[in-house]
Amino acid sequence: MDDERGLPTVWVWGDQLDRRLAHLRDRDPASTRVLMVVSDRKLTERPWHRQKAHLVITAMRRFAADLAAEGFAVDLRRAPSMRAGLAAHVDAHDPSEVVAMEPASLPGTRELERLGVTLVDNDHFLCHWREFAAFRAGRRRTTMEDFYRWRRETTGWLMEDGAPVGGRFNLDADNRRPPDADLAPTAAADPPVVDAPDALDASLGDWLPDDVDLRGAPPDGTWATSRAGALARLERFTTRVLPRFGDHQDAMVTGAWHLNHSLLSHALNLGLLHPREVIEAVIDVYTAGRAPLNAVEGFVRQVLGWREFLWGVARTADAGYPQRNALAADAPLPPAFAGTSGTRMRCVEDTLRSVHEHAYAHHIQRLMVLANLATLAGVRPDALTDWMHGTFIDAYDWVMVPNVIGMGTFADGGEVATKPYVSGGAYIDRMSLDACRPCHYDRTKRTGADACPFTTLYWDFLDRNRAALASNHRIGRAYATLDRLTDLDEVRARAREVRAMLADGTL
Ligand SMILES: Cc1cc2nc3c(=O)[nH]c(=O)nc-3n(C[C@H](O)[C@H](O)[C@H](O)COP(=O)(O)OP(=O)(O)OC[C@H]3O[C@@H](n4cnc5c(N)ncnc54)[C@H](O)[C@@H]3O)c2cc1C
Repeated sequence: MDDERGLPTVWVWGDQLDRRLAHLRDRDPASTRVLMVVSDRKLTERPWHRQKAHLVITAMRRFAADLAAEGFAVDLRRAPSMRAGLAAHVDAHDPSEVVAMEPASLPGTRELERLGVTLVDNDHFLCHWREFAAFRAGRRRTTMEDFYRWRRETTGWLMEDGAPVGGRFNLDADNRRPPDADLAPTAAADPPVVDAPDALDASLGDWLPDDVDLRGAPPDGTWATSRAGALARLERFTTRVLPRFGDHQDAMVTGAWHLNHSLLSHALNLGLLHPREVIEAVIDVYTAGRAPLNAVEGFVRQVLGWREFLWGVARTADAGYPQRNALAADAPLPPAFAGTSGTRMRCVEDTLRSVHEHAYAHHIQRLMVLANLATLAGVRPDALTDWMHGTFIDAYDWVMVPNVIGMGTFADGGEVATKPYVSGGAYIDRMSLDACRPCHYDRTKRTGADACPFTTLYWDFLDRNRAALASNHRIGRAYATLDRLTDLDEVRARAREVRAMLADGTL
């Protein structure tokens, strides 16, 4: 309408769905127009999991409806690209100014700078990246642990008289128990919150270009597409699951896809939950005596520590960081990952089933199964990043890049992790109840047609990367064992076969 022309526009991106953040907090609905763009180019730039495409578009539509109900003039539009969406909006509404909150990802921020959009600082994180950069400045190396301690001290969370509650900042050593027979049934007794589909869920097709390549199982209501849904999932986690979160963080059990993980990353990363409210809710449970410290500290470390640390890394890294490849890995993405072949590796097959069904794998499956296999086999880190970005329900550039390039594959040469996270079949067996029994492959063998690919590739990986890794004090000891192997030539030969089979989908 003509009398609304000239209103300033706030451009809300799909992962900024929080009225309380800097872009919307002080905005008066009567004098602000909101722009939201669903970009065809974004949807066609790579294959996406069906549930991921559904989640982001549906959550944007619900948020747009909430803002409209509050009185904002909302222009939610489908456009060939973000840039085209802005241009069409400007043509239609002639805004006096276009303002946006700095996107979480660096490429997004650069794009908005090029488009001349006024940016306000992103406060969807607890530590802005400039603060992170200042903390890191002058230090030779900053580990997540350094950062986390500093954040605990700064926020006062789980602190008492300047010291960590319980005497230690980090209770990780109490969180690595191998699974027992009770783990999966107990976790399954508290199933995820599931929402019944409504008309909005059903009309997703109107927002999809014809040439979109969607994969995986259709949405089943597991992932929150609204603030109310996200709060219900937070409530489920804090009241029922959190007390068990601590002990088995590094465990997996075949067929148990979520165990005691929170399933909150999708909501946190979209803006449906703020990390502050999540951390405070979890600490409240501890204060009320309803969850043990190792569970609560373990969770707080993930959100206040890892999540924020990796955002800082992603935002302050050089432009070439996403392409880093310190171990010169050049193998293609395994077709089993993309879903175009199967695999007889039971742990991999189980993880990929979860990815197919839920667009989700829990942390240890991502790290110890998928990234471990890719690292050992020398899969190109950027190919892994790209696939995970399209596939995981919680993936965005800022979080996927440092998790894969830094934590998962050591492609950054040790900026995030102090050593490559690699292991053979024996460790997978230890941390899983049944992944190796029964399995087509034998975790104890490193050569022969039925040798566990993880075990073969582990020794071959150490051998191939000796120059880069032998002096690493955290992995160096494995070289002493490697040097005692009497069958290294056979291991190398079997590893060549394994890598070829992984690449052609016959492993
Ligand atoms: C190779 C690889 C890729 C990953 N890709 C992503 C991704 O695209 N998006 C994503 O959010 N997380 C990613 N992670 C981190 C972690 O695996 C997921 O955050 C977690 O599995 C989400 O499930 P949850 O909510 O049940 O987590 P929980 O196990 O319950 O953990 C609690 C919360 O801690 C936070 N968190 C824990 N670890 C990390 C981490 N390393 N980075 C960021 N946040 C963390 C998440 O917000 C999570 O919701 C990745 C990890 C690896 C090893």
